[in-house]
Formats: sequence, structure tokens, C-alpha cells
Amino acid sequence: MAHIVIIGAGLGGLPTAYELRHILPRQHQLTVISESPNFTFIPSLPWVALGLTSLDSVQISLEHRLRQRGINWIQGRVDQLNPDTQQICCGEQTIVYDYLIIATGGELALDALPGLGPDGYTQSVCNPHHALMALKAWQKFLQAPGPIVVGALPKTSCLGPAYEFALLIDYVLRQQGLRKQVSITFVTPEPYAGHLGIGGMANSAEVVKKIMAERDVEVIENAQIKAIAANQIHLGNGRVLPFAYSMLLPPFRGPHFVRQVPGLGNQDGFIPVLPTYRHPEYPSIYAVGVVVQLKPPEETPIPLGVPKTGQMTEAMGMAVAHNIAIELGVISAQPVTPTLDAICFADFGNTGILFLANPVLPDVVTGKRRRAVALSGAWVSWAKSAFEKYFLAKMRFGTAVPWFERIGLKFLGLSLVKPIQVQSSGNISQEIS
Ligand SMILES: Cc1cc2nc3c(=O)[nH]c(=O)nc-3n(C[C@H](O)[C@H](O)[C@H](O)COP(=O)(O)OP(=O)(O)OC[C@H]3O[C@@H](n4cnc5c(N)ncnc54)[C@H](O)[C@@H]3O)c2cc1C
Repeated sequence: MAHIVIIGAGLGGLPTAYELRHILPRQHQLTVISESPNFTFIPSLPWVALGLTSLDSVQISLEHRLRQRGINWIQGRVDQLNPDTQQICCGEQTIVYDYLIIATGGELALDALPGLGPDGYTQSVCNPHHALMALKAWQKFLQAPGPIVVGALPKTSCLGPAYEFALLIDYVLRQQGLRKQVSITFVTPEPYAGHLGIGGMANSAEVVKKIMAERDVEVIENAQIKAIAANQIHLGNGRVLPFAYSMLLPPFRGPHFVRQVPGLGNQDGFIPVLPTYRHPEYPSIYAVGVVVQLKPPEETPIPLGVPKTGQMTEAMGMAVAHNIAIELGVISAQPVTPTLDAICFADFGNTGILFLANPVLPDVVTGKRRRAVALSGAWVSWAKSAFEKYFLAKMRFGTAVPWFERIGLKFLGLSLVKPIQVQSSGNISQEIS
């Protein structure tokens, strides 16, 4: 009997737990540890921050649901990990594991710059607490509108939500008849708008630039934010941007308990993995989601992180569940690796962009993807809303990726995982990053 512990119950951890429970016989024990009592559908937080939806409607409570499905639940923050003794500390509790899956997402590096984040002068939409703080600041802003700055700091890994937030703000202000009083400036460390940390995708640069121009959003590319003061953002080129409201995505890093263990993560605490998503040095540790170390497809003048979108994260979880089941002898199959194909919806209120890529990261040798599409239209907003409801329903029901979703993805020419080509020695030893 094995004890498998999953740290984090977000878009990576929860589907992975459900998939493992589905595959593994009950003699194998599963424990999920998460700081929050709820699962949150993070992609909807920009809507929460602008009062377009409530936080409650994008969360589900976990304890009862997990226990009902034979999954142990611990609510708490993991603060220590000893990979040699295979022990985790979570408050007063010490938990021993046979396999550990780290799915904590990224820790927000709010100390990257003084004044960054809701305890300073800018807002964030990266976690539920921040989204609620951003909403409060937004409501205050509406009483006395002024210039808005939205953007991201160097090393930010998920730029899509910054674009989404800037354009949602535009939409909301137009609806309220306030847009003429407010300038919106978008500040991005990308070499060009639409690069997205992945060297662009299909016509993403063209589509993004066109929509920003149509909505009268000034875009400052290659921007390094040097200082943040009350109501002022200072750029590396000397320009000073006044603001009455600002949302800046911070850089992410791996969690503190990973950064504390030498050799477990890279310099930023992201976890290196083999194609199976197992740690190269600690065979009992796997990683899923934002916490995984992926190499940027290209160097940029200002460093950018690599986006790990929801579907990439879910695929990593499916691969890890399958590979652990093989190790436990529950299934006899070839190990798999996530394809990192993805569909991603960005909603701008009355329109949006759908990005479809297989895979998200271009081939290291050719620099190309098999397929990349960026489509825009009002239907994207509805599709994103429908997808949120579908995903929450899956998490309520306790299913990771049902058969009809797999068929739907196949119909679109996408898959979540693919078999790993095992070397003749039988080893899968080369890190993916
Ligand atoms: C604002 C925003 C919008 C986004 N929009 C989209 C989108 O439209 N489409 C898309 O595909 N992707 C989107 N993404 C990316 C998507 O949200 C991530 O891919 C996904 O959430 C990653 O899942 P994860 O499990 O790695 O992390 P998370 O979903 O963040 O889950 C991490 C979990 O770990 C818990 N945790 C963290 N540290 C500890 C600890 N020490 N101890 C215990 N528990 C801990 C957290 O409480 C949380 O429950 C967006 C991201 C952001 C920030």
C-alpha cells in the first residue's frame, strides 16, 4: 500500500487527485493538503476583481467532497519538506509519503519591487484574496476615476491575464460611460505585444495589437518597471506613468518549502522534471502546474517566465497519475508525458481571443508548432463562461477528464498526453528543461 500526498488543490492538484482515485484501488491512500478550504477557478479572478462575477460562484468547498471520495483532506500550509526522509511538515503535523506531488502553483514574488501588490500601491488578480482587494480598490476608483496602468513585471509567467484585465476594464468603463475620462496604459516586459512569453503564436501579435489599438489602450513594449510610488510608475526609460488604479502581475517563484531544500528547485524554486514529470534526483517527487520548471523558448531582452496554462497543468496531472499507477503496478502501460497542447480563452467583455496551440512551446530545433491558431469574436466570451461552469461541475462531481472531453479534444486534433519514447537502456533520464 502506498501513501500519495498532493500539495495544492488548484487546477493541477485537484484533477490529479481525482484521476489517481479513479485509477488506484482503495488500498492506496491519497491525501490532499491545501492552504485554502476551497478550489478556486483562477482564470475567472479578473471577472471577480471587476465585480463581473462573485468569488463564491467560482469556488467549491473541498473537505466534504474529498472525504466522500475516499481522499484524505488536510487544510494547512506546507512549510517544510525533507525529501530524504519523505516527510512534510504542515503546521503541527508531520506527514510521511511514498509519493509526493507538488502542485502549489507559483508563489507571488511581491518583494520583487517595493510598492508592488495590494499591500503597496498596485493590485493583483492572482489569488482570491487579491481579487477581492482589487475589487475594493476598483469600487473606490469608480468614485474618482483617473489614469489606469495595467501590466506585468519582468519574469512574469502568465501575461494573458494582464491583457484580459486591461481590455475588461475598457469594456466595463465603456458600459458605465466613463471611458472618455480614463486613459489605459499597458506596460509589458515582452519584446512585442502578443509575444506572451512563448515567442508569439500564429498571428497573436497582430490580433493583440489590433484590439489594443481599437480599444484605445496605449501599449508600452519592452518595459522594465523600475519603481512604484503612490500613484506613479517609473519605467527604465525614464518615463513616469501616473495612475489612479493599477494592476500589475508580479513574477512567480516556487514555494518557500521548495526553495529551502538545496537541489530540489532551480534558483527561483521551480522544480525540474523528467518527461514523466518526476524529479530527476528524488524519484518519489513529482510536480504539476505552475511550479514546474520549463525553459523559455527564446531569450528576450527583458526576461519572461513561461506560461503554464490551465490545460497544460491538467495534462501534467493526468500524466503524473498514469505514471505513478505504472510504478505501483496497478496498470501495465507505457509511461506518458503531457503534450502541452492547449486551448486558452481570453475574454474582453464583448469579444475575446481563443488561442489553440499544439504544443504551446515551439519545437526546440525547428522553432515551430504543429498548429497555432488565434481567433477572435464575441463567441469567445460565451465559450470562456461556459468552460468555467463545465470545469467547476467536473470538480464538484469528482472527475478529472471525462471520456467525452477526451473525445472533444481529439476532434480538435489535441491530446493531453502521449507515450514517452523510452531509450534502449530503459531509462527516461533526460530533464525536459
Ligand atoms: C489571473 C489569472 C488568470 C488566468 N487565466 C487563465 C485562462 O484564462 N486560461 C488558462 O488556461 N490559464 C489561465 N491562468 C493560468 C491558470 O490559472 C494556471 O495554469 C493554473 O491555476 C495552474 O494550476 P496550479 O495547480 O499549478 O496552481 P493553482 O491553481 O494556483 O493551485 C495551487 C494550490 O496550491 C495551494 N498552495 C500553495 N502553496 C501551498 C502550500 N505551501 N501548502 C499548501 N497549499 C499550498 C494554493 O492554495 C492552491 O490551492 C490564469 C492565471 C492567473 C493568475
